[in-house]
Amino acid sequence: MRTITTIAELRREVAAVRERHGSTGPGAGDPVVGLVPTMGYLHEGHLALVDRIRELVPFVVMSLFVNPTQFGEGEDFEAYPRDLSRDMELAEQRGVHVLFTPSVAEVYPAGRPLVRVVPGPLADVLCGAFRPGHFEGVLTVVAKLFGMTQPDVAVFGQKDYQQVALIRRMARDLDMPVRIEVVPTVRDYDGLALSSRNAYLTEVERVRARTLSAGLFAARAAFAEGEAAADRLKGCAVITMAEAAVNPEYLELLDPDTLAPLAEARAGAVLAVAATVGATRLIDNVIL
Ligand code: AMP
Repeated sequence: MRTITTIAELRREVAAVRERHGSTGPGAGDPVVGLVPTMGYLHEGHLALVDRIRELVPFVVMSLFVNPTQFGEGEDFEAYPRDLSRDMELAEQRGVHVLFTPSVAEVYPAGRPLVRVVPGPLADVLCGAFRPGHFEGVLTVVAKLFGMTQPDVAVFGQKDYQQVALIRRMARDLDMPVRIEVVPTVRDYDGLALSSRNAYLTEVERVRARTLSAGLFAARAAFAEGEAAADRLKGCAVITMAEAAVNPEYLELLDPDTLAPLAEARAGAVLAVAATVGATRLIDNVIL
């Protein structure tokens, strides 16, 4: 594995790989280059993305960049967990070919870019409603990473459901020649969705955090038994979370593509939740 910190070096490396594979560019012919964007502090969720992309392409670039423009004021940009040497080891073990770890100055040489990606109405709901500017920051940096790497395929986790819905939409609406691949959420032994932010949880909070997934699973079980009313399904989840004094910031049943709220559940609908446990904001979702 090579660790690369500059855009110029990344471009050279990708060009050489394309030449070796007789590839003329992204989206043309067999896929060659895959991109796994992350903010680092790697866990099995990130590594499942690597496993998936290795099935699709011979060359894997993982980016590791804690993107300041997607953090709001008072959010955890400074405190976000970082451990580069551990990440390098895990990425290499899992078969990443290039670990791209640019500095903030490399990605934003003139500060926040003047031209940015407007996420549109899909960002008005769920996390977007509580984190103004977050998805503009996410889409802008993902568009930049696509521009730097020019991957044939990029892979994202279902755990960040709204994020991947927006990235799919961006790639489609802006004709980006990249296939977007989604990997199901990887969970801890007790159901908690893996997240770098789980590192913030105290032992007691970690036990309480379990009720996010337990609540979603309770609602999913009720749906499987025939319950379809959104209010009652949400009720199942809320009761489970309330047992650990967890109050959702939002809990929504949504159309999987438009993210419009649903009054009646149907197969494929998404039940998504965000809640703060202690000082840690957690999100999770299940597909019914
Ligand atoms: P992050 O480093 O948190 O920005 O996440 C980088 C990528 O990993 C995103 O596409 C996430 O959706 C994905 N990811 C994070 N946690 C999980 C998980 N538990 N299971 C699957 N993918 C995940």
